[in-house]
Amino acid sequence: MVSLAFHNVSLTYEGSGRAVRALDALTLEVMPGEPVAVIGPSGCGKSTMLLLAAGLLTPSEGHVEVGGAQVVGVRRATALILQDYGLLPWKTVADNAGLGLELRGVSRDERRTLVAEALERVGIADFARAYPGELSGGMRQRLALARAVALDADLLLMDEPLSALDALTREDLQDVLLGLWQRRGHTAVLVTHSIEEAVYLGRRIVVLSPRPGRLSAVVDNPAMGTAGYRSSPAFYERCAQLRGLLAGEGAVHPGTAPEIPVRAES
Ligand code: ADP
Ligand code: MG
Repeated sequence: MVSLAFHNVSLTYEGSGRAVRALDALTLEVMPGEPVAVIGPSGCGKSTMLLLAAGLLTPSEGHVEVGGAQVVGVRRATALILQDYGLLPWKTVADNAGLGLELRGVSRDERRTLVAEALERVGIADFARAYPGELSGGMRQRLALARAVALDADLLLMDEPLSALDALTREDLQDVLLGLWQRRGHTAVLVTHSIEEAVYLGRRIVVLSPRPGRLSAVVDNPAMGTAGYRSSPAFYERCAQLRGLLAGEGAVHPGTAPEIPVRAES
């Protein structure tokens, strides 16, 4: 597994005449195999953060490292999953699942094996020959996940992947995500605007400030992924804590809430 580190990373979009500072001096280290959730107000730079980690954007200041090496361009074992699935309607489910491999130059024979395994793993093997238009929203999202599974990604970057789904399908998919992580143990960054999702799936939860995004708090969540967590009092307490942090409920300092460790950043 690989680590992911942001060292004092800032990103300013230099558009036509107007510069938008999206991220400001972000320093964050994600441990190998650690699932981290990122939450923050709309426009605070969450997507920007993932694009930087994926090597699709270059920091204006600072640098990003994956496995100790500076990120320059796209890496074979990094997968980026977006909310709109990125599926090609004219390709079959199997071909869509193999797209990441195809783009990385993996041969058709090798793709076939990896794709069959990936579709099995996310529970849509029976639909290999169908087209995305024939799938429900939940199944399309499974297909987007299959693409990452087929890549055997060791770093999974997810940008609000489940936000278009209804509540029940969403909980199903959260369990699929959890299962994939428990099996593969990849390093994961999940951007979400759902507090419950962050608490269910993040071993640590990173709270960003309004734009330009700065680290506002990092909340430890060691019970993440344990059986029954989603319906336990500890889960609801953690959600309430995050709701408070997002509402900017006073300054958060270590020791403010001794029963729930919070590491506050400036
Ligand atoms: P989030 O994902 O948290 O909603 P983004 O990372 O998408 O936020 O964007 C952060 C800020 O940067 C926003 O104010 C957004 O409008 C701006 N932004 C994003 N992409 C671009 C771009 N290509 N050019 C100019 N500004 C952008
Ligand atoms: Mg976004």
